[in-house]
Amino acid sequence: MGQEVSKKVAVIGAGIVGVSTAIWLQRAGHSVTLIDREGPAGGTSYGNAGVLAAGSVVPVSVPGLWRKAPGMLFDPKQPLFVKWSYFPRLLPFLFKFLRAGSEESVQHISKSLALMLHDTAAQHIALAEGTGAEKFISTGDYVYGYADEAYYKKDAFGWRIRRERDVQIEEMLPERIAEYDPVMAGRFGFAVRCGEHGRISDPGAYVRTLAAHFEREGGEFVQADVSDISLSGGKATSIHTSDGVIEADDIVVATGVWSGPLAAKLGIKVPLESERGYHIEFVNPSIVPRSPIMVASGKFVLTPMDGRLRCAGIVEFGGLDAAPSRRPFELLREKTLELLPELKYERIDEWMGHRPSTSDSLPLIGNCEGASNVWLGFGHQHVGLSGGPKTGRWLSQLISGQPPNVDITPMSPNRFR
Ligand SMILES: Cc1cc2nc3c(=O)[nH]c(=O)nc-3n(C[C@H](O)[C@H](O)[C@H](O)COP(=O)(O)OP(=O)(O)OC[C@H]3O[C@@H](n4cnc5c(N)ncnc54)[C@H](O)[C@@H]3O)c2cc1C
Repeated sequence: MGQEVSKKVAVIGAGIVGVSTAIWLQRAGHSVTLIDREGPAGGTSYGNAGVLAAGSVVPVSVPGLWRKAPGMLFDPKQPLFVKWSYFPRLLPFLFKFLRAGSEESVQHISKSLALMLHDTAAQHIALAEGTGAEKFISTGDYVYGYADEAYYKKDAFGWRIRRERDVQIEEMLPERIAEYDPVMAGRFGFAVRCGEHGRISDPGAYVRTLAAHFEREGGEFVQADVSDISLSGGKATSIHTSDGVIEADDIVVATGVWSGPLAAKLGIKVPLESERGYHIEFVNPSIVPRSPIMVASGKFVLTPMDGRLRCAGIVEFGGLDAAPSRRPFELLREKTLELLPELKYERIDEWMGHRPSTSDSLPLIGNCEGASNVWLGFGHQHVGLSGGPKTGRWLSQLISGQPPNVDITPMSPNRFR
């Protein structure tokens, strides 16, 4: 990629979005500093389900959710939880989130999600080329497993939207399911195979490997907490960190669910909440499916990973500070062992993390009107692993003065000014 003006760019946040952005900026010839208080993959990018979810173009908020959600919240066997002490703080977000679940709004959201996600596997392959992280990527299918066809038909709205966005879909009855993956035989009465997806066999190691490559290529990594960005005359002048002041020509904010305060400083008041998610891992499992499987009854994903079977999912609204709850871990365990009762394993590891979710389920990608040299890249909710590399590429193109040739204005941060 040719680049005439080499800039000094600081990227705050070393999750999949920040690391992808740093690598694409570096490849475009810029001098890049990557800053994270935890280190690469210290946030949500560590523990996701690893699915390169090309077809995940349907937001969580869909028509009728407001009718279903209360029943789900009071049923401990459903994958939706709320910490009631947090509920009053959640209400303004929830109101906007549910309002964004109209058919018209879902159509709008899904078109932008499709733009970001449709070629996710190819984007990861391009990002990882020559970094050593290629080995974590495999291309393949993503399967939705249902108890029966009637259950599948209850999800008709989502499947109609996916078809409208050209997701490659094969419906499978029990005989075909068994032929597709003998491990799934007899466990589902109906399944849907979505082609042209992929998976990452160890998301934490993947992001760390990409970040190590960035440093080997001359990028600077600073482990520090960013507390503020100074502004003057409509531009950012410096970044204040626990390790001192960093100056840069351009700044990227890719701090995931923690981005609210920095964005507010720039005049962007984004309704951003953590959809807390959980995973458990069965280490050295005796059963490994061929592809990641979304278990529809529990809305969690079983993903084969290096030496383990990761079961990831659950949505819990409870803010950023509260400790993980026990019930989501138990539910994941119960649901997995219901499906795979003969599963043997060495031990179970547990993790909880924060999906960065906006009220309209679209990320913020682009420039801030309030600070012409600051660029935002966060809010990727359930699909940030999938959308991170393309977000990084788009941001690098924008900073290099070569805007992407697709319309990303629905994801502009300025919709929240
Ligand atoms: C259970 C679960 C399953 C998921 N499954 C999938 C999946 O299968 N496929 C998919 O595509 N997505 C999935 N996701 C979503 C995906 O993981 C996220 O959207 C993605 O990781 C967000 O990446 P990010 O780079 O924006 O944020 P993060 O990975 O959270 O990175 C933000 C970084 O910013 C740093 N930071 C924050 N504030 C500061 C500060 N002030 N100073 C310095 N550093 C700071 C943090 O330390 C962190 O490292 C899942 C999420 C969960 C929870």
